[in-house]
Amino acid sequence: MTTKLSPLLSRLTDFCWLFFPTLLFFGALYGVYSYNTEWIKAWLFNLWWLSYACLAIAAVIAWQFGRSRLVYGCVLLLMIAANKKLAFPPELLEVKYCGILLSFLFLMYSKDKGFSALNVFFSLLIFLTIFILCWLSIPLLQNYAQPWLTSLDSLLYQLSPELRTLVSPFNIALLLVSSLLGLVRLIVKTDNTHNALFFGLIFSAFMHFYGNSNSTPSNNTDLGLITLVSLAALFGYSVLKDSFTMAFKDELTGIPSRRALMQFVQTLGRKYTVVMSDIDHFKKFNDTYGHDVGDEVLKLVASKLNKVSGGGKTFRFGGEEFIIVFPRKTANEVAPFVEMVRQTIADYDIALRTKPRPPKPNKTAPKKPNKAKIVKVTSSFGVAQRTKQHATFADIMKQADIALYAAKKGGRNCVRIAKQ
Ligand code: GH3
Ligand code: MG
Ligand code: MG
Repeated sequence: MTTKLSPLLSRLTDFCWLFFPTLLFFGALYGVYSYNTEWIKAWLFNLWWLSYACLAIAAVIAWQFGRSRLVYGCVLLLMIAANKKLAFPPELLEVKYCGILLSFLFLMYSKDKGFSALNVFFSLLIFLTIFILCWLSIPLLQNYAQPWLTSLDSLLYQLSPELRTLVSPFNIALLLVSSLLGLVRLIVKTDNTHNALFFGLIFSAFMHFYGNSNSTPSNNTDLGLITLVSLAALFGYSVLKDSFTMAFKDELTGIPSRRALMQFVQTLGRKYTVVMSDIDHFKKFNDTYGHDVGDEVLKLVASKLNKVSGGGKTFRFGGEEFIIVFPRKTANEVAPFVEMVRQTIADYDIALRTKPRPPKPNKTAPKKPNKAKIVKVTSSFGVAQRTKQHATFADIMKQADIALYAAKKGGRNCVRIAKQ
């Protein structure tokens, strides 16, 4: 239905927007840390409680919004932070770290299940199983993979002898595999929750290697602490950002929702124009091609309307109705832009995949490829501007609705301006 380049570009843009706040959090804190003045050192020394506080706040926010995976993620990070307080023997530290890595990976590949007693019980059971499996299988795996681990070990030693004292080759191998699987999942999903869990997975390694104060110098411990604070901020941000998206973006089409429209209206001045748009004969379209195809067409129409020029902002009002608001413009000024988007929708060829139905099943006949059937949809538009008589948003909407009705009466696939 769309060109091949634009989904790729929009995916890339989504990625940049996901990574930008992440880099900001980590960049800001590591930047402050790299100054390494006495004052910052003293400040960092007192920061340990902040990491726990940030994680607790992030977990509570995530809990309030039913984001169970982020709550479990916070718990996993707290487990890493506990390295310092509870002195684990080295072999248990290894099991703990591998368990945490695999638990992050499990969270990335599962769904938010909420907090019903049964779901919490099953989730805890899965985590327990992961840790027990790690405990039982790590010695066996290490034995089995000894030749590869030895060469990885010498490579690690050549790269950084200091790092080699902190991390075992088995840890590194597991981290590489988990990061790769996590990245694949992030590329498929591209949302804030997966972004937070992915960075949790990667940086938990960092915290684990550097956060163990029993074996490392204190400035490395500070680095672990900073990572923890950054991750907690990222987790909190992800919950808030996702909740914002849920509240203000329409789930199906991805454009701003009716709630966003109501908020946008508050920002409008004395001069603006409202356009009400409605897809023509959409009920018939659904009845003919099915609701799923109808949903795809709704997305397509929304994306065309969202690209309207002339400074218009598009919202899904409900069903197959959309509102475009043009701030600081009169009805006559916006008419050409509305006409342009109407034409774009009407001209668009929608390719539907249809399976040819043979009259009798014939196993020997070669299978025909699916044919693409080309269909079209049209939309009608009603335009109304703010005037002295119609000064409230509700009044202007009513006028736009009357104009839309006139467009429907006038044969559909056209634009009508309200008589005001
Ligand atoms: P008109 O040209 O007069 O606007 O005719 P219409 O059939 O488009 O108008 P009507 O209001 O009778 O039907 C609207 C239809 O839109 C009904 C419903 O099946 C469909 N619809 C509303 N929301 C959705 C949605 O989210 N997905 C799909 N697939 N269809 C929807
Ligand atoms: Mg309608
Ligand atoms: Mg309609």
